[in-house]
Amino acid sequence: MSKLKIAIQKKGRLSEKSFNLLKECGIKFSYSDRRLKTEAKNFPVEILFLRDDDIPQYVEEQVADIGILGLNEVLEKDKNVEVVKNLGFAACRMCLAIPKAMDYSGIDFFNNKKIATSYPNILSKFLNENNLNTEIETIGGSVEIAPSIGLSTGIFDIVSTGSTLITNGLKEVKTVLESEAVLISNKNISAEKLDILQKLIFRIDAVKNASNNKYILLNAPNTAIDEIRKCIPGMKSPTILPLMNEGWSSIHSVVKEDEFWEVIDKLTELGAEGILVIPIEKMILNS
Ligand code: ATP
Ligand code: MG
Repeated sequence: MSKLKIAIQKKGRLSEKSFNLLKECGIKFSYSDRRLKTEAKNFPVEILFLRDDDIPQYVEEQVADIGILGLNEVLEKDKNVEVVKNLGFAACRMCLAIPKAMDYSGIDFFNNKKIATSYPNILSKFLNENNLNTEIETIGGSVEIAPSIGLSTGIFDIVSTGSTLITNGLKEVKTVLESEAVLISNKNISAEKLDILQKLIFRIDAVKNASNNKYILLNAPNTAIDEIRKCIPGMKSPTILPLMNEGWSSIHSVVKEDEFWEVIDKLTELGAEGILVIPIEKMILNS
């Protein structure tokens, strides 16, 4: 039986989260520092550990069938691969930045100036779309020092918190792209491998839904149940169980992580008591 070959970053910001995602999907494998590939013990996949820059090419050439890497790298390499899923980690943005003291009036600022970057393809596409006549200085790394050493006026780079820019006396002036880790796939994988990929995606969805949701339990007076149901509709509907205490019920449901605090505020206003919130390990949505 053929195995689905998955490429992940060997060492870097994506490695641990990529490993963990596969582990949370129930895929067991061993990894030692020097190995470049390993087979899972309990799922028909083989894992290749590579530099993230090489993953798009390897997936295009079917050295790997699928890969996990930043959308920024996928767009920069512009290979013939398909983005099949956003994975929700390694979020960052790609921005233009200039020295703090410079006045910025809009993107025309960059006309007839030079920008240093490790992402020349994404940048040149953006410059063309905006009809800007800007020179691109391609460098391999440490882009943020380019203005201070006189290499360029501005830079185009990855930003997550922005603290590296500030440390180097720069300010962000324009976001060009939002990025996060994505799952990419070769466009011509066999039916057999596609079947494994679909099983993997099913598991990834269960892991992602679980981390985006919490299980919530609370006690409430029966008179508040109708209003409370509207705040926490749950997967189908909340579970409502009578308490020994007459006139009170225990309500169980699921809430979205990003609506969580708002919902808790409403519930307490409605008279809910003894609210417990519990992490969900896996959540299967098959409707
Ligand atoms: P490799 O040796 O595999 O080529 P790398 O140095 O290119 O590694 P990392 O610094 O490990 O790459 O970053 C990998 C990806 O993590 C980036 O391409 C980006 O998608 C994401 N990322 C998230 N936040 C940041 C950040 N603050 N700085 C850099 N990359 C980030
Ligand atoms: Mg890289």
